[in-house]
Amino acid sequence: MDFELNEDQIAFADMATAFARNELEPFAAEWDQTSFFPLDVIRKAGEMGFASIYSPEAVGGLGLSRLDASIIFERLAMGCTATTAYLTIHNMVTWMVTSFARPEVIEAYAADLVSAARLGSYCLTEPNAGSDAASLKTTAQRDGDHYLLNGSKVFISGAGSTDVLVVMARTGGSGARGISAFVVDARSEGITYGRCEDKMGWNCQPTRMITFDNVKVPANHLLSEEGDGFVLAMKGLDGGRINIASCSVGTAQQALNLARNYLLERKQFGKPIGEFQGLQFRLADMATELVAARQMVRLAACKLDSQHPDATTYCAMAKRFATDAGFRVCDEALQLFGGYGYIKEYPLERFVRDTRVHRILEGTNEVMRVIIGRRLLADSDSEF
Ligand SMILES: Cc1cc2nc3c(=O)[nH]c(=O)nc-3n(C[C@H](O)[C@H](O)[C@H](O)COP(=O)(O)OP(=O)(O)OC[C@H]3O[C@@H](n4cnc5c(N)ncnc54)[C@H](O)[C@@H]3O)c2cc1C
Repeated sequence: MDFELNEDQIAFADMATAFARNELEPFAAEWDQTSFFPLDVIRKAGEMGFASIYSPEAVGGLGLSRLDASIIFERLAMGCTATTAYLTIHNMVTWMVTSFARPEVIEAYAADLVSAARLGSYCLTEPNAGSDAASLKTTAQRDGDHYLLNGSKVFISGAGSTDVLVVMARTGGSGARGISAFVVDARSEGITYGRCEDKMGWNCQPTRMITFDNVKVPANHLLSEEGDGFVLAMKGLDGGRINIASCSVGTAQQALNLARNYLLERKQFGKPIGEFQGLQFRLADMATELVAARQMVRLAACKLDSQHPDATTYCAMAKRFATDAGFRVCDEALQLFGGYGYIKEYPLERFVRDTRVHRILEGTNEVMRVIIGRRLLADSDSEF
């Protein structure tokens, strides 16, 4: 067991850190306040391979492991949580298309997705199917050489600004086995986008509802086979959960760094506030929780890389733990900044707003507990 990064991982982490410092961090506050989706910067990230980190090399992806991706996303999130979080969703979409689409569809979409010339959205959640995603109602009815898509999706990240949608829709009976996944051109006739949701955080990426009204989707745009859609959606989310957890860890690391410096600089009662042992203990707990969260995320990533039978459970544990811990660390850092933490001149309040949603999306942290609990109770031999 080796907990150190290898040479390649250090090189990728350094590249991501440089990108975060030069391209993300200086602009993140402005993007947040003006709700500006930085498409050019996302495309620059694509040029560096960050739009297709774990997609196959055969289609132009970096072909790296989930562990490598986690290390890169963590560093990027230190520069801008919300932009990095969108990049993780784009990576998930790119991976799903390049792994499960028909060869001619991969040929048509892969190069642009890999380079981020075209951006992707992941469309699972519906107005009445959130945590219970398998109850989704959007239908895809076969009609000759195409499917007709009808229904609506909510809370879709990037929607309205993205080009390629991976849509989960019902082709069969009720339940998970009746669901299929499709690659859908985002500008297809019959697609309408709702207003940009006014959110607490993640302001530099749009979130919209999407309505499908008799949208024609070529039959060969089906991913894998009919009925495989829910399994594919969940496979995408295993990695997605590691990625979003990595965004929490990276943001928390940035918050911890800032808090540490502030404790040395800020003076009250005639001395730096870092000399108060009560605050040293707070900082110590923040660092300890952060390291535990990072190790858990990396463990889950390794389980996914080795296709461990309990990878899904580890991903759920890591997502639950790291997004809760990451949020707590950011909130504690805000507290250590006192009143300055609460004003927008400093990034702490943005970190808190941006990491809050990580506990809700890609499966809420309650649903993560459902997954973990179900697994523990299913098998008396489980070794956790
Ligand atoms: C900013 C943002 C971006 C998003 N981006 C995307 C996206 O790109 N694509 C996409 O498909 N979706 C996206 N989502 C949707 C997100 O995944 C859902 O909001 C989430 O899965 C929860 O669904 P819900 O909001 O319907 O809540 P509900 O499912 O209605 O849950 C309400 C509450 O009940 C709890 N709950 C539900 N079931 C159980 C249970 N069995 N046991 C215990 N507690 C339970 C939940 O944890 C929650 O606290 C996004 C959401 C947001 C806010």
